[in-house]
Amino acid sequence: MCDIRRVLIANRGEIALRIARACRVAGVESVGIYSQADAASAHLLLVDQAVCIGPAASAQSYLDIERVIRVAILTGADAIHPGYGFLSENADFAAAVEQAGLVLIGPDAAVMRLMGDKIAAKQQMHRSGVPCLPGSDDALPEDTQAIHAIADNIGYPLIIKAANGGGGRGMRVVHDRTGLEAAVVAAQEEAGRAFGKRTVYAERYLQHPRHIEVQILADRAGNAVWLGMRDCSIQRRHQKLVEESPPVGISPEAMRNVGERCVQACLDMGYVGAGTFEFLYEDDTFSFIEMNTRVQVEHPVTEMVTGMDIVREQILIAMGRPLSMTQADINLRGHAIECRITAEDPDTFQPMPGRVETWRPPGGPGIRVDTQLYDGYTIPPQYDSLIAKIIAHGRDRADAMACMRAALEEMTIEGVATTAAFHRRLMDDPAFRKGAVSIHHLEKSMKRDD
Ligand code: ADP
Repeated sequence: MCDIRRVLIANRGEIALRIARACRVAGVESVGIYSQADAASAHLLLVDQAVCIGPAASAQSYLDIERVIRVAILTGADAIHPGYGFLSENADFAAAVEQAGLVLIGPDAAVMRLMGDKIAAKQQMHRSGVPCLPGSDDALPEDTQAIHAIADNIGYPLIIKAANGGGGRGMRVVHDRTGLEAAVVAAQEEAGRAFGKRTVYAERYLQHPRHIEVQILADRAGNAVWLGMRDCSIQRRHQKLVEESPPVGISPEAMRNVGERCVQACLDMGYVGAGTFEFLYEDDTFSFIEMNTRVQVEHPVTEMVTGMDIVREQILIAMGRPLSMTQADINLRGHAIECRITAEDPDTFQPMPGRVETWRPPGGPGIRVDTQLYDGYTIPPQYDSLIAKIIAHGRDRADAMACMRAALEEMTIEGVATTAAFHRRLMDDPAFRKGAVSIHHLEKSMKRDD
């Protein structure tokens, strides 16, 4: 057991507030960091100490490994919570934190590195019996004939993906043999430019999958649980906009089978902390695509249906405490939906930062709002445009949607454009209301509107 008394929050925005609150509940102190653009950040009022870490540019503030660790040491923090984005999945950062004698609230650097390499991650899943898409199983070779042989074996259409990819970059869909070689070169070049490594692999391309993911928690004592699944199929350019739990139309047995395999995978690789196994789901089949080794934006929908506090649990796990629940304690109650409200034009999704003149959050039974907003807050243009997450919890999906619709009507944000109107339209979209749409639903329905 290691004592954690002070946690440095290496993040900003709503997740920094979320972590600061969890620290208070867990009975530990917190240190907030902020860039010069974030001096008026709401989370700084909730932390025990606030330190300016550098200029607005992320590379010189939230992404500066040395500075973050130095501030942690100088402020007497013994642990660092990286949140999501920024340094949260950077294995070099995790290693540097360990080296400095601090605790990273997350998995060990070696496990993070393993899951950051998608080829190694898939191989690991294979070993633990987690279902994966048929693919090259290894990096694609240089020899074009060998590449063709692998591709013929997988079958078309297939997708070429960067081994170290993220954010939907370094991917190319190939429909037939004629497009293969050019796609491999293009993916390698994009991967090299974006991630510093040209390694790519191939796997079968699914044409109309849903995005379904499994939330897990694992402690240092060898206990692991899965906390149900989330459906995150409402996406635009691979960015999730709406998430819900549980997914509709998938049998509890099928979900349990995959959930238990994810738990086994955690035990096999020595995973510690909160994590998410992402799957594509098509024709009643789950296929693993990647693991996220951090807390996710959409974790609140899982918290609403399970009643668990995932961020507090992360802190306790990092202290070496055993999980505060067993699998038998996890009973899903009702249905939860989250809408990500961003400071963007609701039609074009162009970022629209600026000053929020009025902010009136929605409320009522089943409504939770995770946000950094307050009246007069100026949204800086340098960062992600997420400004609020509205989460609605109801007895069933129809009830959760009715609560969400009312909450979106009630919410007032004046001074900046937001995507609230988009979410209001979505709640009335017949296909979404029916449920189980594919990851292409939004882009297809938007095209129809043009
Ligand atoms: P990243 O880390 O860049 O987000 P992922 O492996 O999670 O990469 O894939 C991102 C998105 O690309 C998926 O959510 C899905 O929309 C699409 N995708 C990835 N692999 C496949 C596949 N084999 N078939 C169909 N779509 C895929």
